[in-house]
Amino acid sequence: MTEDAVWQPLRDELSRWENAGRNIQFWLRDDDAVEPTDALERLLALSNNYAVPVLLAVIPSLTGRPLADRLKSEKLAAVATHGWSHQNHAGNGEKKQELGPHRALETVLAELEEGRRRIQDLFPEHALSILVPPWNRIDTSVLPHLHSLKFTALSVFGPPKHSQTQHIPVVNTHIDLMDWHGTRGCRDHAELVAEIVNEMRHRFEYGENMIGVLAHHLVHDASAWVFLTTLFETTVETGGCRWVSAQELI
Ligand SMILES: [Zn+2]
Repeated sequence: MTEDAVWQPLRDELSRWENAGRNIQFWLRDDDAVEPTDALERLLALSNNYAVPVLLAVIPSLTGRPLADRLKSEKLAAVATHGWSHQNHAGNGEKKQELGPHRALETVLAELEEGRRRIQDLFPEHALSILVPPWNRIDTSVLPHLHSLKFTALSVFGPPKHSQTQHIPVVNTHIDLMDWHGTRGCRDHAELVAEIVNEMRHRFEYGENMIGVLAHHLVHDASAWVFLTTLFETTVETGGCRWVSAQELI
């Protein structure tokens, strides 16, 4: 299949939205930034070229002044708190978690409080009070405390869970570019396009309109960059869609 044919289903679905006078809203989250790198430059350049806002989930304990200085001039980037140190505390054979039930709740909450404060101090112009748990996992015991830690929203992956939304607004991502358990590169483009189209059809039917795209600039291979570029190219040229900032969503 040519790359052009791969993207046709998305073009068709976007036309359907446009013809119906509806607007699908995409948003972009990118995880694990800690410092300026070539990959980050590439991501920021793409975001600026296509006027696509990006929420950077930054790891508080590992980041510092260089990233803060680099982002100062960026108008389309915002920063969220990505846990504390992105350390796995789960046991062997368990799904990785930093904010799981493996440690005392007070320890987890103290780290999150310090993490949010550090992000706020380093990125005063860009910080949003959104918590992005490492590996998109957070124990339910932490959730009732997020408001008192001054978080105003949570962002994980997949359909929103009632156990989370009852405590805090949730702005999730739904499309993950990377094949974590296979090649560890970008997933097959046709498969990703089909997934986006499916999510769009579901939202068309249920009167919803938000889809979150999840990227990880530090591990992108060439294919991931091509996918992101083509996604932006394909979406920004139509009237049926808009890229929105995380701020607009919360
Ligand atoms: Zn992460």
